[in-house]
Amino acid sequence: MADEKISGRTCACAHCRVRGLMGPIVLITIGVIFLFGEYTRYSFGELWPLLLIVPGIVMLAQSLASKDGHAGR
Ligand SMILES: [Zn+2]
Repeated sequence: MADEKISGRTCACAHCRVRGLMGPIVLITIGVIFLFGEYTRYSFGELWPLLLIVPGIVMLAQSLASKDGHAGR
């Protein structure tokens, strides 16, 4: 009965919580790369692979995260 109210966004299992972190983490990574470009000798051209590495780590964590208590699709 309550199942119909539960969408993918409200699921609180570890898997879905890690997925919810993806957006903020990518934004933070972009911000950090630009900060580094500003204040260190590294430039965006040298640091852009972080945009592959960091989301890759998040996806890895997501695939390892438990789906216990997962609700929805
Ligand atoms: Zn879930």
